[in-house]
Amino acid sequence: MTRPPARRAQPAPNAQAIRPVLLDWRDGIHYRRPAPCVLYEAPTLLRSHAGEAAHKVCAQDWNLAHPGESRFVSDTKPRRRKDDDDHA
Ligand SMILES: [Zn+2]
Repeated sequence: MTRPPARRAQPAPNAQAIRPVLLDWRDGIHYRRPAPCVLYEAPTLLRSHAGEAAHKVCAQDWNLAHPGESRFVSDTKPRRRKDDDDHA
């Protein structure tokens, strides 16, 4: 029996899904009154875009455990506007 030549381990196609993704929740819409985190029960001021109370770290952990799902997403980054585009 011949063994196939050792192949270098290729990164899994979804390897990037396990890369920690930091959520960007800087927008004021994420800050409300304290409420129990839906993921860890401890009170949090933070809300997801869907209004779920969740710590950012908890949401990030949830995202890591559920790759490909979009329950918790980052704020859409405001586009940088060119100041020299103002012709008024
Ligand atoms: Zn939490």
